[in-house]
Amino acid sequence: MKKKLAIIGAGIAGLTLANLIKKFSDHEFMLYEKAESLPLDQGYGIQLSPNIIKILNKINFKKINDDNIFNPYKIDFYNLKNKQICDLDLTQFNTGNEKYTTLQRSTLIEFLKDNVYAQHLRFGKRIKEVSEIKEKILIKFDDNTNDLVDYVVGADGIFSNTRSFFEKKKSNPKFRNAIAIRSLLKFNDDLNINSQNISLMLGGNCHLVLYPINKKNEINMVCILRNKKYDPENIKNLLEKKVLSQNMGLKNIFKDDLTSWPLYSTPNMLPSTNNKVFYIGDAFSGFLPTMAQGAGQSVESANELFDLIKNKNSDIQKIYFQARYKKATLVKKRSNFNFFIFHFSSYIMQSIRNFLMKIFLKRKNFINAYLGVVYKN
Ligand SMILES: Cc1cc2nc3c(=O)[nH]c(=O)nc-3n(C[C@H](O)[C@H](O)[C@H](O)COP(=O)(O)OP(=O)(O)OC[C@H]3O[C@@H](n4cnc5c(N)ncnc54)[C@H](O)[C@@H]3O)c2cc1C
Repeated sequence: MKKKLAIIGAGIAGLTLANLIKKFSDHEFMLYEKAESLPLDQGYGIQLSPNIIKILNKINFKKINDDNIFNPYKIDFYNLKNKQICDLDLTQFNTGNEKYTTLQRSTLIEFLKDNVYAQHLRFGKRIKEVSEIKEKILIKFDDNTNDLVDYVVGADGIFSNTRSFFEKKKSNPKFRNAIAIRSLLKFNDDLNINSQNISLMLGGNCHLVLYPINKKNEINMVCILRNKKYDPENIKNLLEKKVLSQNMGLKNIFKDDLTSWPLYSTPNMLPSTNNKVFYIGDAFSGFLPTMAQGAGQSVESANELFDLIKNKNSDIQKIYFQARYKKATLVKKRSNFNFFIFHFSSYIMQSIRNFLMKIFLKRKNFINAYLGVVYKN
């Protein structure tokens, strides 16, 4: 039977679900976004593993202009002094049409919005009240409009407001004593990195990730550094103290406009207590960016939920939560582990790590157990 869905939040998770419903079902749906528009001007780069491209290909990811995406070959690991430690071949995960991809977040949002923008997206919408009427949920918004639906999907990010209307138990996102700082660079030889690859530079209490986001020589740079406090006014000083003190040669990387934000993750993944309410993307679980899987997991969770709704499964809630919990736990563990090993400050620990990385990143069994399981759907 035809169902009606309200998707709360038009980020990567909400938009992916909307596209899947639109293309492959006759269910009715509306996306409710609190902002007045979608952020299409800027945005950091994102990495998408081949399993995520497989899902996006179902909704015609290939239509994105090839100049606006990039397929890196490897991850080159360096220390912060630009000395290469080892590399990881990313092409081993690729199949014909599903390649490890990097792009700007706004390019992905632009693509995802295309088919749903006019008919299925409403801006400036915040939930004011929810109630249950027979088998349905009535949502009232603070602009005095409302919607009566069969399912509500919370896709409103790590600080999900939807949860506060339906769940008594809270798992408040935790500040991880770390900050992300990003900039968009033009590739030049001074950078001393391979322009075809992802470069990961590991330093004491910080690491840098640089990668092309298109074929126009534009490089996304993200620096993650540990700090107990987030003070956006003091970012340049912090960079000098924590990063440039380890290598002054990196100062050109930070000379342009910098954007920063504090890093949070979700401590516990809690199931929905209402059979008609689901959470996807960061609203289900937010990760540290050290596995580059946040956007990917948003796409994957949307796809899992859609498959269950489409197939009219009788116990959607339980099946969805169990499978999502399992996958998200895997990603969370690896993100936390990477966060730990990327930031050793002791020279001895760094040397041991680098030695082990050189050995393990060449072992097929290890790669499959560590990354292969994440890149599989
Ligand atoms: C430094 C950094 C680097 C990253 N790099 C990568 C990467 O390389 N690869 C990767 O896969 N991921 C990466 N991520 C993570 C990824 O960007 C996020 O996990 C992903 O965007 C989450 O998508 P989402 O749709 O769940 O939530 P969001 O993108 O947070 O979207 C939520 C939407 O809901 C809206 N909203 C919020 N509250 C309400 C409300 N009350 N009512 C209505 N609407 C609301 C918001 O305005 C927003 O549009 C990175 C993150 C960081 C911080």
